[in-house]
Amino acid sequence: MVLLDGKKTSSDIKDEIKVTVTTMKERGEKVPHLAAVLVGSDGASLTYVGSKVRACEYVGFDSTLVELPDTTTEEELLNTIKGLNENDDIDGFIVQLPLPKHIDEQKVLMAVSPDKDVDGFHPENFGKMALDMESFIPATPFGILQLLERYQVETKGKHTVVIGRSHIVGRPMSILMSQKGPAGNSTVTLTHSYTKNLSEITKQADIIIVALGVPEFLKADMVKEGVVIVDVGISRVPDASKKRGYAIKGDVAFAEVSEKASFITPVPGGVGPMTIAMLLKNTLLARERNT
Ligand code: NAD
Repeated sequence: MVLLDGKKTSSDIKDEIKVTVTTMKERGEKVPHLAAVLVGSDGASLTYVGSKVRACEYVGFDSTLVELPDTTTEEELLNTIKGLNENDDIDGFIVQLPLPKHIDEQKVLMAVSPDKDVDGFHPENFGKMALDMESFIPATPFGILQLLERYQVETKGKHTVVIGRSHIVGRPMSILMSQKGPAGNSTVTLTHSYTKNLSEITKQADIIIVALGVPEFLKADMVKEGVVIVDVGISRVPDASKKRGYAIKGDVAFAEVSEKASFITPVPGGVGPMTIAMLLKNTLLARERNT
């Protein structure tokens, strides 16, 4: 069994980006600038945004954190987004989700300029991605493709089963795994909460990408020998033995499934760190496209 080490791979990618940024600085070019908008004070969101800002500092990007209170109106947020769209110094920006309930998430994501949409959530980018055109691929799926590619996992002609059809992971993943190119050319089955006999389908899979958010959902008796497993899930499970009172669990029962797998991502240290690295990669792409 080979561990698909997202911690190491993401650190390699960040170091590659750092080298590019150093060269940009030496040439007197403008370095990429990523902004993040955070509305409210949700603990997990603060942690995610903090990691993104630190990653920017590490690679030498400029970064701006726009912190807005819980009470921010939809109109105020849309105005902030307009300002970022029009600010030539900012190459790309993200709006950290989830947003407070009184704000329409779809309206907000639609307001982000597709040229600065480094999360790849705008319908224009999603559509371009589906049509094999140049776009911003959402960071988590982009990270999974990179992991598969860098570990030279064969995907061509394989049967890939994706569990979960979210707009940010499962749905784009199903499109990307079926398209032409590296880490593509798979035959894809997209499964979700209405799928019947899921085990029968997963037992036929050469590659399983699991993104449903149910801790240790995928068990060893649901997979065949030699399967490739990509575990996207991140759940906090109460654990008194931990100082912080919880443990992070993936969607895969790692101990038992890893015994049958040929490749598998751990949680933590698999897909999670790749997501941040690919956000940086998209910001670098945005800078390059803006020059
Ligand atoms: P979501 O929470 O929006 O949706 C869950 C999906 O799972 C739905 O499409 C639903 O149909 C499907 N599902 C639910 N129960 C099912 C079942 N019994 N059988 C088959 N399908 C079922 O999904 P999401 O936003 O992609 O998040 C999934 C998990 O991935 C969460 O734990 C989330 O925290 C994690 N996540 C991790 C990263 C990362 O960077 N590692 C990024 C995004 C999401």
